[in-house]
Amino acid sequence: MANTPYPQSYYAASANAVPPRPTLQGEVETDVCVIGAGYTGLSSALFLLENGFRVTVLEAAKVGFGASGRNGGQIVNSYSRDIDVIERSVGPKQAQLLGQMAFEGGKIIRERVAKYQIQCDLKDGGVFAALNSKHMGHLESQKRLWERYGHTQLELLDERRIREVVACDNYVGGLLDMSGGHIHPLNLALGEAAAVESLGGTIYEQSAAVRIERSANPVVHTAEGRVRAKFIIVAGNAYLGNLVPELAAKSMPCGTQVITTAPLGDELAKTLLPQDYCVEDCNYLLDYYRLTSDKRLIFGGGVVYGARDPANIEAIIRPKMLKAFPQLKDVKIDYAWTGNFLLTLSRLPQVGRLGDNIYYSQGCSGHGVTYTHLAGKVLAEALRGQAERFDAFADLPHYPFPGGQLLRTPFAALGAWYYGLRDKFGM
Ligand SMILES: Cc1cc2nc3c(=O)[nH]c(=O)nc-3n(C[C@H](O)[C@H](O)[C@H](O)COP(=O)(O)OP(=O)(O)OC[C@H]3O[C@@H](n4cnc5c(N)ncnc54)[C@H](O)[C@@H]3O)c2cc1C
Repeated sequence: MANTPYPQSYYAASANAVPPRPTLQGEVETDVCVIGAGYTGLSSALFLLENGFRVTVLEAAKVGFGASGRNGGQIVNSYSRDIDVIERSVGPKQAQLLGQMAFEGGKIIRERVAKYQIQCDLKDGGVFAALNSKHMGHLESQKRLWERYGHTQLELLDERRIREVVACDNYVGGLLDMSGGHIHPLNLALGEAAAVESLGGTIYEQSAAVRIERSANPVVHTAEGRVRAKFIIVAGNAYLGNLVPELAAKSMPCGTQVITTAPLGDELAKTLLPQDYCVEDCNYLLDYYRLTSDKRLIFGGGVVYGARDPANIEAIIRPKMLKAFPQLKDVKIDYAWTGNFLLTLSRLPQVGRLGDNIYYSQGCSGHGVTYTHLAGKVLAEALRGQAERFDAFADLPHYPFPGGQLLRTPFAALGAWYYGLRDKFGM
């Protein structure tokens, strides 16, 4: 029997205790079979259970094994491509609907944490940091854009103000979003899984879906069992492989890496990030960081197209951290890990149906902590027959990566190299 553990991350080392979960054996019957216990799957399961559906979740490894248990923990609003791009590429009604939903995911997380008493170190406040005047201009227009959609918890930071929230000399200003913030991502997923079980849902771990039998009453097969369901939700994201071949051509798994320092102590931690906000810079290949509850710095950045695991993560990410914080040159790195997110060409989520009863949402292209929570709500609405918001996502156009599955990685890497150069020269 497969037994895939968590990667050796800070999050796995500081995870809240959870009960052992069974592997699926034999046949079960349910209303909805959810494939994948990341935020997309867990959020869908929770909304469905709250609306009276019977739900069975199949997880190939462990709850939060994928990006949801490894990410930077930053609650970032809107989508990986912002609403202005959506406004330009779809009609006004669809753009309006998507814009109205752009700030809902963060609210859902906070509601979940409060309702189910989830211990995940939730903190309010996220900063977008500008490295040059072009970035600052972008943040000014982002503030105007988000305010147009009713988001009012935003403050532009000039060069003096940003020094008060982050001790990094590289920034010329920033945008503070008080409805952003940060969490211990694995503990959020574990708390949501416990909430699913408290409502009568079942989660099977080490139970990868290996085949979907498509019919009016679809069946999901695992190595030792099967789930008969009325509906299936596919939520395997970058770890799905080729289970649903139609989805693979229009998205590409990519790796991104994170390091965690040894505890810095209260004094140094407070010097770096006095208000304990999380920060991401405005580069295309961006750096992001925050403090943990035990005052370590978690620092992420970099992208590996095609999701190959780099041999020495610390060698890639530590120099980026020292560029932002040279004062950490003597601090030891305790953890380094990689995780996969799913990129689409448009960087907008890939959402839809296959036939009448298989639904999917994936590919939020890097910023997915908030979107995936919204996705669960929108998927549950669609299964209840209210599909207007689901269809606003499902109608977004998606295209295959140039070069097909064989050449998409070098093409994307070439694109990233170009954007990396633009970042470097502040273009
Ligand atoms: C290192 C890293 C840092 C990030 N930082 C941030 C951040 O700070 N802020 C932010 O907004 N976003 C961030 N992201 C993105 C964000 O984490 C993801 O968008 C989000 O977690 C995706 O959730 P998901 O549930 O769709 O997928 P995942 O969390 O990847 O979950 C998919 C699950 O499905 C399971 N699975 C796959 N195939 C099968 C199968 N056949 N059968 C059963 N189970 C299956 C997997 O094992 C996995 O547990 C980051 C991503 C990474 C990798």
